[in-house]
Amino acid sequence: MRKQYKVIVQTLEDDKITKESTVIQDAILAPENCLDFALGIDQHMKLIHGVQDHVLNEKLLCLSEQQRNCPKCPGRLVKRGKQESVFHDIFSDHKVTFVRMRCADCDYEAPCTTRSQFGCIQSGDLQKVQSELGSKHSFREAQDILSIFSGRSRGINNHDRIKQVTEKMGDALYALNTQEQKMAAINQASELILNVDGGHVKTTENQRSIEAIASVVYRPESLVPNEKGTRNQLIGKHCAASVKDDHQREIVTATTIAAIKEGLGPQTHITALCDGASNCWNVAQSLEPHCKSITYILDWFHVAMKMENIALPSTLKSKFMRVKWHLWRGNTGNALARLNQLIGLSTNKKAKEKLKAFYTYIVNNANKIIDYRARKKAGLVFTSNLAECTVESLINQRCKGKQHMRWTRAGLNPVLQLRAAIHSCGEWNAKWKSALLNAIAA
Ligand SMILES: [Zn+2]
Repeated sequence: MRKQYKVIVQTLEDDKITKESTVIQDAILAPENCLDFALGIDQHMKLIHGVQDHVLNEKLLCLSEQQRNCPKCPGRLVKRGKQESVFHDIFSDHKVTFVRMRCADCDYEAPCTTRSQFGCIQSGDLQKVQSELGSKHSFREAQDILSIFSGRSRGINNHDRIKQVTEKMGDALYALNTQEQKMAAINQASELILNVDGGHVKTTENQRSIEAIASVVYRPESLVPNEKGTRNQLIGKHCAASVKDDHQREIVTATTIAAIKEGLGPQTHITALCDGASNCWNVAQSLEPHCKSITYILDWFHVAMKMENIALPSTLKSKFMRVKWHLWRGNTGNALARLNQLIGLSTNKKAKEKLKAFYTYIVNNANKIIDYRARKKAGLVFTSNLAECTVESLINQRCKGKQHMRWTRAGLNPVLQLRAAIHSCGEWNAKWKSALLNAIAA
């Protein structure tokens, strides 16, 4: 006896079958291994393609039946042949058939391609996947990943298309964020933590690099401790990022919006942690009119990192550790005195230069150096390293460190907007649909 299975897709009208087609039909045999036990990717794709092809075309018939009245004149639309068009979903590519509808009186013709009807030729889900991958990987890597999951390479997942979709979605998200600025804070926070951090990104423009700035805002109670020895976890936060050369207008606006979403209000006290660059302090300062007060703290993570990057002979190392010891206690005067001695003792020219640069860094940020040890004891935030390193992941993971990557401001900014949304808790899931509809309408 020969055993087979068959999948049929049917259209029902009041429980009566009006159309049906066979999607797949294949033999049922005893499996020999894990390869022939499952349906296999080819059958999977055939199944998805077959079912969807049927449904898409039926939906288009429905559409033409609805379009009876001419939107331009009192005339009626009549059928004028058919028009083939393409449509792409997450796993399948389709040729669909539109019924051409035309006005007998004024020659108006209803949209009869997927692009003119829907503003795009991909499904919303595909565009979500493309833009998410495009924001996390290079566009070529995203193309490869999609090819792996589709079991084949598809023109719709070409890196150029992924780039286009990613940029459109990012731009639309940014526009949405701008609108939200007008929203008032519903749930005012008494305390907010703000991290502002900069990073340089290689560019195709004349300058050798462009500066990106990213902010993360969260409530202290959102920082929950993990198991000992692992990083703490941020369960709620909002992020902002920008590379625009606009006198920081965009990053200031986006940071303000992020803070408002976290509950910024006139009664809020902000603790601002920055890496020490003056443009980062500026972003934090721009929040002053919107809150009660701000405590500025030079991020201990950056202080420690800078010190680690200075290589000294072992004779001077212990003296350098004394400098760190004083800084850890917020004793800037002693730290600077010790540092000055060290510069005098240092014979290596390179080390001397680095020590001098560090001296200047401490002088420039002296009023933002606090008693880190006391804060730690009191359980207060003193370093961005205690939070998930969002600034690092926003800018560096996607946009830096790869030598072959060169960005334009126009190309990088939408990617950063997407990454900021994906990194903000709940933001991307809540927004991708409206971003998509706005991107199509744009
Ligand atoms: Zn008409």
